[in-house]
Amino acid sequence: MSIEVLVTLSRYYGSNPEYVVAGGGNTSFKDESTLFIKSSGIALAEICAEDFVQMDRAGLATIWEQAYPAGSDAREAAVLADMMAARKPGETAKRPSVETLLHDLFPFSYVVHTHPALVNGLTCSCTGEQAARKLFGDQAIWIPSINPGYVLALAVKKALAVAPKPVPSIILLQNHGVFVGADSAEGIQERYHHIMDTLRACIQGEPDLSERTASYGASPEIACLLRELAAKTAPQRNAPWQVCFERNAALSTFIRDASSFYPVSSALTPDHIVYAGSDPLFIPVFDTPASDVVRVIQEAWEGHLDKTGMIPKIVAVQGLGAFGIGTGEKAPHRALELFTDALKVAVYAQAFGGVCFMSPDKIRFINTWEVEQYRSQVAETLALPIEKG
Ligand SMILES: [Zn+2]
Repeated sequence: MSIEVLVTLSRYYGSNPEYVVAGGGNTSFKDESTLFIKSSGIALAEICAEDFVQMDRAGLATIWEQAYPAGSDAREAAVLADMMAARKPGETAKRPSVETLLHDLFPFSYVVHTHPALVNGLTCSCTGEQAARKLFGDQAIWIPSINPGYVLALAVKKALAVAPKPVPSIILLQNHGVFVGADSAEGIQERYHHIMDTLRACIQGEPDLSERTASYGASPEIACLLRELAAKTAPQRNAPWQVCFERNAALSTFIRDASSFYPVSSALTPDHIVYAGSDPLFIPVFDTPASDVVRVIQEAWEGHLDKTGMIPKIVAVQGLGAFGIGTGEKAPHRALELFTDALKVAVYAQAFGGVCFMSPDKIRFINTWEVEQYRSQVAETLALPIEKG
C-alpha cells in the first residue's frame, strides 16, 4: 500500500543526518483525490501512517481561486484556515505541514522535502543558480529565496507553469533546501542519489569534524557566565537556561578571527534561524588580558541585545569554541547541531563562490513567525521584550 511506502521513505530520509537535522523536512503521497501530508510537529524518523493528514485535493485547489489579504500575517492566517477546511472528515485533530500547497501542486505521487547540508551548500551560495543550471539543466527548477508557506507555493506554481516538459522532478529552494518528486520510492532514491553524487563531485572537501569535544575544558567559567547573563536578561522559572559547548577542527578554522567567522555570522536557512538564531555572536578575545575576559564577554552580550533584541543562541569565543544557549535540556544541543550544520553548508558553499545569507526582511519574517508559533507554548520566549540588567 502506498502509505506504507511513504512511511518507509520518510523514516529512511528522516533518520539519515546527511538529509535531515533536528527533525526538519516533510513528505507526502497523493492520488487523484487525496493528499497524505506529514503533520506539523512530527519528526520524519519516527513517523507512522496515522501521522499523515488526509487532505481533499479539490478543496486545496480552491485556495488558488481566493483573493487573500496583502499583509503577510493576515494572508497566512487566511490560507491556514482554508487549508484546515480542506482536511478530510476525521482528520481535524491534525495540523498539515506549512508546505502542504507545494506538495499538492508538485505533480508526482511521492514528494520528499529535505534540507541536506550538501544541497544547501549550493542553495546558500553566491553562484548557486548558475551552478544549478549547469549541473541539473531542465531536471531542476530554481526558486529564489522566498518566505515559506503560500508565497513559496505560488512561486513554485508559476515556475511549474512555464517549466519545460517533462516536468522537472527537483525543486531547489534558495536558502532553504530541496523538493524531490517521483511516482515510485525507487524514483525518489535515484533522484536523491543523482543530486548528492553530482554535488559531491563539485565540493572542495568535507568539513573536518574530528577533534570533537563537548567538554568545557578550560572554560567552565565562561559557560557559567553565559548562563548567568541569560538568566539575568530573561529569568525562566520552569525551564532554566542551559549552556553546552562544542569544539571541532572545522569550527577552529571559523573562530580564528571576525573575518573567518563571517560565513556563519548570519542566517543561511529558516532552520538555522529557528534553532541556532539569526545572529550567532562572535567574541574576539585574543587581545584581551585574562583578567578582562569577563568584562569583554559582558559588553559583547549587551551589544548583541542592543543590536538584535534577542538573546544569542550561539556564542563563539575566539580560539576556544562555540556555546549553545537555550532553555531546557534539548535547546542548547539543538542550537549547536544546527550551527554545525551551518558550518558544513559554509564549507560546501566554497565550491560555489561562498555563502549568500538570507536577506534581512526574510530573516525578520522567520524570527517573527517562530515567535508566533512558540509564543503560546512557552511563557517567556527569546524575542519578547527583554529586561536589561
Ligand atoms: Zn523546508
